[in-house]
Amino acid sequence: MENIYNFTYEQLYEKLQQLQEKKYRCDQIYDWLYKKRVESFDQMNNLSKDLIAKLKSNFTMDHLKLSKHEIDKDVDKFLFQLSDEAYIESVLMHQHYGYSLCISSQVGCNMSCSFCESGRLKKVRNLSPSEMVLQIIEIEKIKNIKISHIVVMGIGEPFDNYDNLIDFINIINNPKALEIGSRHITVSTCGIIPKIKEFEKLNLQVNLAVSLHAPNDDLRSKLMPINKVYPLKELLKTLKEYTIKTGRRITFEYILLDGINDTEHHAKQLCTILKGINCYVNLIPYNESSNILYKRSKKSNILKFYDIIKKEDINVTIRKEFGSKISAACGQLRAKKEV
Ligand code: SAH
Repeated sequence: MENIYNFTYEQLYEKLQQLQEKKYRCDQIYDWLYKKRVESFDQMNNLSKDLIAKLKSNFTMDHLKLSKHEIDKDVDKFLFQLSDEAYIESVLMHQHYGYSLCISSQVGCNMSCSFCESGRLKKVRNLSPSEMVLQIIEIEKIKNIKISHIVVMGIGEPFDNYDNLIDFINIINNPKALEIGSRHITVSTCGIIPKIKEFEKLNLQVNLAVSLHAPNDDLRSKLMPINKVYPLKELLKTLKEYTIKTGRRITFEYILLDGINDTEHHAKQLCTILKGINCYVNLIPYNESSNILYKRSKKSNILKFYDIIKKEDINVTIRKEFGSKISAACGQLRAKKEV
């Protein structure tokens, strides 16, 4: 039996048709799940007893179990336990424009980036659409808030869980469900080229962010092994095409690691490779971890790096920091739990 939160509106409608139910039943059920937020089929009191029985025998409605909740000034970190006892984490940030939630897309991650906690723990499995959707629903309930922005930047590589990611986006974007605007959704990838091309064809108006972290192949392959499969030149060519075909700007994420990728030379090289791409660069102060040797770049080097990019007329910001005190960087809370 599948969790009912796995189903896009169209998929649920199809399933209900198979159960000889009419279309308006799909609207009613979506309304109970996503607007009224009931937690059992029995609470859906405008459905017939017969239909409730059918739902119970065809779907589950399990929620996520909160295992830990850490709170800092404007960030909350949640650790959830899934039905198979795996753990995932979500980070809620209180921004000036509303609440933004960073969600996980996999249990662990196979990309093995050398600076990242999530990769140390290897992928166990993909998250289902329901496990992604429920991160939002549980947190809205716990905090009694409406989340306006979603970033798929937590544990996992979303493009390594592509089909579930697309269903997830469909559900949260649907006005009958969570109604989160496409432009308020950001997917972050390490650069899986075939999936970037597929994503481009969907023309979803969702923001795409790409973890770059190095301006040349040698260094990028050391930091991010995926670069050996999808090297920089090809990645940048794909992304340039993406911006032209979709008319959307791409965000490049660049973590600054002391003495590794943060020199003036790296900054200049970065400007050269980004020339002519409609983009925006997000410089990220590294969140250090006791298990990994990299250090955060010195403040003065971060500013110097920023200035060089700015002077080339490339849009650039230094990411506001959330939650370094509470292990809110990618994978850190889960890593504490598992190690
Ligand atoms: N796999 C996807 C999304 C998850 S990682 C991707 O690679 O984009 C989300 C972002 O957090 C990536 O840019 C990743 O490189 C970055 N990140 C990982 N560990 C970090 C740390 N300790 N400090 C700061 N950023 C980190």
